[in-house]
Parts: sequence; structure tokens; C-alpha cells
Amino acid sequence: MMRLPWFRYYAPESVAEAARILAAEGSRAMLIAGGTDLLPNMKRRQQTPATLISLRQVEGLRKVANGAGLVLGAGLTLAEVVGAQPVRERYSALWQAAAQVATPHLRNMGTLGGNLCLDTRCLYYNQNEDWRRAIDFCMKRDGETCWVATGSKRCLAVSSTDTAPALISLGAKVKLVCVSGEREVALGDLYRNDGMDYLTRRPDEILTEVFLPKPEGWKSSYWKLRRRGSFDFPVLGVAAAIRFAADGTVEQARIVLGAVSSRPLATRAGDLIVGRKLTDDAIAEAGESASSAAKPMDNTDLDLYWRRDVVTAFVGYALREIRGDDMRAERQRIAKQAFAAAM
Ligand SMILES: Cc1cc2nc3c(=O)[nH]c(=O)nc-3n(C[C@H](O)[C@H](O)[C@H](O)COP(=O)(O)OP(=O)(O)OC[C@H]3O[C@@H](n4cnc5c(N)ncnc54)[C@H](O)[C@@H]3O)c2cc1C
Ligand code: SF4
Repeated sequence: MMRLPWFRYYAPESVAEAARILAAEGSRAMLIAGGTDLLPNMKRRQQTPATLISLRQVEGLRKVANGAGLVLGAGLTLAEVVGAQPVRERYSALWQAAAQVATPHLRNMGTLGGNLCLDTRCLYYNQNEDWRRAIDFCMKRDGETCWVATGSKRCLAVSSTDTAPALISLGAKVKLVCVSGEREVALGDLYRNDGMDYLTRRPDEILTEVFLPKPEGWKSSYWKLRRRGSFDFPVLGVAAAIRFAADGTVEQARIVLGAVSSRPLATRAGDLIVGRKLTDDAIAEAGESASSAAKPMDNTDLDLYWRRDVVTAFVGYALREIRGDDMRAERQRIAKQAFAAAM
């Protein structure tokens, strides 16, 4: 049995108190929300903070406020996000992404903020300590070499959050709070293409809110590829959001890929369909463009080249769903299929 290392535990009741403790404890402290990512990482000694600052008792982090846009507290569980009526009715990509994270148990504990700040993943890193010691560890923790690309100076671990690509496609911003003040950043700017230093969030900042603009004229969709439809992290996530003119022409389009680099990848594939109707040809062009932008590495589940090739099909599913095609059979097929054949 893997045991947790010893740690000091704080349970503040306000954001200000949490920010004060975080500033005082410095780099030896980490925030914990649902703990569904951090606690397994601690058991495997991938992350070993001396102090945990829990956000579970912090007031105000579970709000759902519908006004000029939609404000979602970072402490909402993913089950609460899925259950929020405005999310279900107006922000389909987020609803579909949150509903497909992990399992019901994990969605009952795991939070939106934790999902956005999720550690990057790699087959050489998400292993227990003995396994990692046997390969002399790796650059992300305790070692010097990257076993995925031995010449690489950068860790290539994969951004595996489902909700981030969806929220970026919807134009989301996040609020970050620390003792000296607060700032708002576009969610896309929260991420760096660096598997170790993957967030631009400063160590003393707490992500408190996600803000979604009004979805007027926008339609969105999220499609996820994973080995087991009931359980797994994404090996590909495709989020698409499109704003249509009254005559059905595409006015704005965003296509964001998850699990193909160390941060969610905002592609330029959407530009190819702006000013056009969403025809089969336009959809195929966008899919091929997104597929060539994707550069997955051989450090996660399923075959590398197949994962890149299948981007075209998944972009197609998302865009056809936005167009209004009935994609229920396709969704069911993908949810039930075990992708063992692609190994
Ligand atoms: C078996 C299994 C399957 C999983 N499958 C998926 C999946 O399919 N898709 C997916 O996206 N995730 C998956 N996860 C990961 C995880 O369950 C979710 O991402 C979850 O939403 C994480 O939220 P949490 O509140 O538990 O985060 P925690 O574990 O509490 O924290 C995760 C990280 O975020 C930081 N953090 C948390 N809240 C804040 C905040 N408000 N401000 C700043 N930093 C913060 C923590 O310090 C930590 O670094 C899976 C996990 C397991 C164990
Ligand atoms: S990409 Fe390289 S450095 Fe990063 S976790 Fe994997 S093996 Fe380690």
C-alpha cells in the first residue's frame, strides 16, 4: 500500500486567509481542493509539499452567478458544474467536458479549479517511486534525463485537463488572487508549453473564479478520445466553438486541442471556416489543419501516429454536432469502444 508522506494541514475559511498562509509558507506549500490529483501524486512521491492548504472550507468558491456572463467558483465540484443549469443549457462544450472527466466518484470530489491546474502527465512520471527510481527518475522530478526525448531540454509531459480546452474555446477568463491583489487573465494565457512549469500562475496565487462571456450566437462542442469510455484521462480532447451570422455563415471559430502538448493547443484551424458555411468540405479542411498542428509525443496511452491522424475525425465530429447533425450514435460508439486495437 502506498502511504501519504507527512504534511502540515491548514483549513482556512476565506480566500484572504488562504492567500496569507500560502504567502507565508512559500514554495513548500501547495493548495488542495478535491485532492483527486494531488493525493495520488503525493503517494507516488511525485509531489511532496510539506504543507497543504485546503480550499474546501473557503467561503465563496462555490458560486454560480449568472449576469453579464457566467461566473463559476473554482471550488465547484465537477458534478456541480455538470448540474448547473446555465452550463448545461448555454455552454455545451464545458458541460460535455466536465461530464466526461474520470468517474462519478471523482467528479463528486474533483473541482473546476483543480482540473484547470492539473499536473501534466507522462508514462515515465505517473508511476510509483520504485518504478521511477529503476529508470533513474526523469527531469520532471528527481532526475536529469527526459526519457521521451533524451536530447530535450524541456519536459514534454502532457496537459490532460478536459475542461481547459472547452473553456478556452468559450473565451473564458480566470481570476487569480494573492495577498497583494488580484488579476484576471485569459484562460489560454494561464498555460505554458512546458511540462514542468506548465502554469503562469505564481506560486502565491489562488485561482478563485472562472468567467464565461455571454454565449450569444455561439454554439460549442467537446469530444474526447480515451482508452475506456467510462474512466480514462483524455489522449485527445477537441473543443470547438462557433459564432454564426443570421444566414448561417461562420463569423468566428475556435478549435482547441487537449492532450497533444504540455498546454491546451489553440489552433488556427478555425480561421479556415470563417466567412463560409459549415459544409462537409470546410469541416474536412479544418480537421486536417488541426491534425497537422497537433504534435503528440510518445508518452501517453495509444499509438502516437494514430492519435495525430484521428484529430481530423474528432474535429469533424465536433463541427458536425455544432452544425446540428445528430451525433448521438457516434458519441455512443466512442463511449463504448475500447481502443485496444489502436495500440
Ligand atoms: C483515476 C483518475 C482518473 C482521472 N481522469 C481524469 C480525466 O478524465 N480528465 C481530467 O481532466 N482529469 C482526470 N483526473 C484528474 C482529477 O480527478 C481531475 O482533474 C480533478 O478535477 C482535479 O481536481 P481536484 O479538485 O481534485 O484537484 P486537486 O488534486 O486538489 O489539485 C490539483 C492541482 O491543482 C492545484 N489547485 C487546486 N485548486 C486550485 C486553485 N483553486 N487555485 C490554484 N491551484 C489549485 C493543486 O495545488 C494541485 O496542484 C483523474 C484522476 C484520477 C485519479
Ligand atoms: S516528458 Fe520527459 S521529463 Fe517530462 S515527465 Fe516525461 S520523461 Fe519526464
